[in-house]
Amino acid sequence: MGQVINNLAAVRSQLPEGVELTAVSKFQPLEALEEAYSAGQRRFGESRADELQRKAMAMPDDVEWHFIGHLQSNKVRRVVRCASVIESIDSERLLRLVSSESERIGKVMDVYLQVHVAAEETKSGFSADELIDCARRCVDLNGVRVCGVMGMASNTDDVERVEADFAAIAEVGRRLREIISDASVLSMGMSGDWPIAVRHGATLVRIGSAIFGDRG
Ligand SMILES: *Cc1c(COP(=O)(O)O)cnc(C)c1O
Repeated sequence: MGQVINNLAAVRSQLPEGVELTAVSKFQPLEALEEAYSAGQRRFGESRADELQRKAMAMPDDVEWHFIGHLQSNKVRRVVRCASVIESIDSERLLRLVSSESERIGKVMDVYLQVHVAAEETKSGFSADELIDCARRCVDLNGVRVCGVMGMASNTDDVERVEADFAAIAEVGRRLREIISDASVLSMGMSGDWPIAVRHGATLVRIGSAIFGDRG
């Protein structure tokens, strides 16, 4: 006990004014989330629908849940019900599905479009051009509000590559704002690379292991 609170304080003290934090609590036990909550953390990131639902039911109502994992169509209903933001919209089909499900339950879901710039093929997301085309085609959807872009840098020690990836994500964010002027969120940066992301204009960082320790 106490370690999560200390880690959280350390991260917060380094984050510049105006950069927000999603505490990525995926695979962490409820006690770890409760500890962060007791230290004032209200925004948590989860990557699995079942786990999100379970934790959302157990935690207080003022938690803002961000879904950050690949979202399968058969899990859309569950995630739309629990999440405040879906950061990981990686296809137009998913965006339309989230919109219609949100409309059905009388909600307007905040979403970020996920761009894929990293070297790893396993990561999901639109290419930069696909993302912009999708945003153009989907400006009229009623069940979603496109608030920004989410992305991940390559998982590498090559700092130049990481810099280039974050610059590319930031550029997509700039292009998105030409279409949707208030889509100002730039969600990028994780435990190992967030200071670089912040230098490239991140407005929201997603930090897990640096707060909660290794995932079991
Ligand atoms: C797990 C995850 C994070 C957090 O990663 P850490 O290295 O533990 O900080 C951030 N973003 C996404 C999309 C993730 O899946």
